[in-house]
Amino acid sequence: MVSSEGTSSKDKELLKKPYVRLARFWEPLKDKPGYVRCNLCHRRCIIAPGKYGVCGVRKNIDGKLYVLVYGLLTAMNLDPIEKKPLMHFYPGSTVLSISTVGCNFFCKFCQNWEISQSRLEKGLYGEYKSPEEVVKAALEWKADGITYTYNEPTIFYEFMYDTAKLAKEKGLFNTMVTNGYMTPEAIKELGPYMDAATVDFKGGGNKEFYRKFMGVPDPDPIFDSILEMKRQGWWIEITNLVVPKVGDKEEDIRRLARWIVENLGDETPFHLLRFHPDYLMRDFPVTPVKTLEKLAKIAMGEGLKHVYIGNVPGHPLENTYCPRCGYPVIERMGFSIVAWKLKKGNVCPRCGYKLNIRGEYRGKNLRFPLSLL
Ligand code: SF4
Repeated sequence: MVSSEGTSSKDKELLKKPYVRLARFWEPLKDKPGYVRCNLCHRRCIIAPGKYGVCGVRKNIDGKLYVLVYGLLTAMNLDPIEKKPLMHFYPGSTVLSISTVGCNFFCKFCQNWEISQSRLEKGLYGEYKSPEEVVKAALEWKADGITYTYNEPTIFYEFMYDTAKLAKEKGLFNTMVTNGYMTPEAIKELGPYMDAATVDFKGGGNKEFYRKFMGVPDPDPIFDSILEMKRQGWWIEITNLVVPKVGDKEEDIRRLARWIVENLGDETPFHLLRFHPDYLMRDFPVTPVKTLEKLAKIAMGEGLKHVYIGNVPGHPLENTYCPRCGYPVIERMGFSIVAWKLKKGNVCPRCGYKLNIRGEYRGKNLRFPLSLL
């Protein structure tokens, strides 16, 4: 049903909700009245009146773009920062992790598919929280920062922006776990409020893998976005999910590692993550540890000094080694630091080398995440 003003009664109701807000980074299309283009992520969706963007949480209502998940949270957990993973950013700290529904990717192996692959045509869900409430919870639980994660935070940009700004005023840091598809113009605006990003690659950034298993036409723009994050001064760690048989090519890891060395520096942490069967790829096996070790060796061969293996608790490549003398300066078990041997200023106790770590050791070492929603 459409009202006399042109807005359907359903959309009129929607516009009254606290979690529906005018979006940022969009423009009306001059040659197509009523249509808009969203410039928040590299998909740059052109959206017809009454329709949604690819992420399923941005809707064109009467020629204006709205975000439908502002503060509509599906999770609010207290996590160790190592779970993001961020190994060289305020080690041993805790973060309040938040998410909504929706994603701009369609990964067939997503571990959080219940929230990420839920498009809002299928129904809105979540619990509304204001930025003030999120920051208050972070302070009450004595978190060191807030992390925007689980689903792709780009698609809830407006809430992330407002929360990050407020969190920063209260002395908290902000980090995001992202697929790297946010446009450089959106990164620039977020720049002063975000402190760190974990950028997740899958299948070594292989184009065919992105097309076939993630529904993404081209991963190349991710590299431009990472460079913008770097210009903004964010701390960056890169992960790569190694999917056995279809996303474990040596040449892809070599290329990715080389790009990191040349563009972000050889002391950038690089995490090779073990795949676990999930969602639409349950018939695939877990990644053999031998494959992860072989790829880690290749990444190190390209010059990377901090290569980690993730999702294999107890593996020696969970530890941090001094790039100069090889001494294990931080020992970990899963997400916990079990031995911190660095001296003040993150200096190796054996040879005096200053490690590439931002922030001091916070020593909280939370063992298990805590759900607060
Ligand atoms: S954020 Fe959503 S609507 Fe905007 S371009 Fe990306 S997928 Fe499309």
